[in-house]
Amino acid sequence: MLVARNVTKNYSNLPVLKGVDISVSKGEIVTIVGSSGAGKSTLLHILGTLDAPSGGEIFINDVQTSHLAGDALADFRNRHIGFIFQFHHLLPEFSALENVCIPGFIAGTRKSEVRERAAYLLDTLGLSSRLDHRPNQLSGGEQQRVAVARALINKPDIVMADEPTGNLDSHNARELHQLFLQLRDQFGQTFIIVTHNEELATLSDRQLVMKDGKIVS
Ligand code: ADP
Ligand code: ADP
Repeated sequence: MLVARNVTKNYSNLPVLKGVDISVSKGEIVTIVGSSGAGKSTLLHILGTLDAPSGGEIFINDVQTSHLAGDALADFRNRHIGFIFQFHHLLPEFSALENVCIPGFIAGTRKSEVRERAAYLLDTLGLSSRLDHRPNQLSGGEQQRVAVARALINKPDIVMADEPTGNLDSHNARELHQLFLQLRDQFGQTFIIVTHNEELATLSDRQLVMKDGKIVS
């Protein structure tokens, strides 16, 4: 599903990633752990095509992503990669259902199909009575679940999550962990998750430990 070979990143000649190799199979939940400054977020952004590597190769479903640019890159990202961040950036003027639908509309999928899938995802996430609520009418846990549904609307090959439970209480964090496992089991959904949450790291199929720009175990 995803293969990265010898990925490097320098910020003004300072090496931040020093040759990272990763391969992730369909349906795997891989967590990346390690101390602050190790390069975890940088790696996730590069794997997610939000940032370009200084060197190395990345393939997502056999597409070499560093060969994409401009509209082709934006389109690839919207169709193939789902993002979940700690601060979910839901659009405040749109309802939960509309927030989930928007990436589907951008991808050009038939509107009725997008609406049906959005409602199904929100229902699966326990939000069927919240479809018309705006983000400020939802709790933090509910907002994060809307962001998860949005990340899944285009049936992405892979979901990239950066500290997805960072602003959730332990109850909501645990529910999100269960949801990730359910999505893996039900849809074969693949995840790469940067986390400080030890419970989530333990639940995952594989933990990668980063230190000083490298994967050390
Ligand atoms: P982590 O997610 O493991 O805490 P980061 O990937 O955020 O680590 O950062 C790794 C290193 O890269 C840090 O030393 C950080 O200061 C540096 N860094 C991250 N982003 C930039 C940037 N845009 N410009 C310069 N240095 C950066
Ligand atoms: P959680 O258990 O996720 O922390 P809360 O206790 O924050 O949930 O919220 C409980 C319920 O109240 C939620 O279902 C949410 O929809 C509703 N709610 C929370 N904040 C608001 C708000 N500002 N306006 C309307 N409803 C709200």
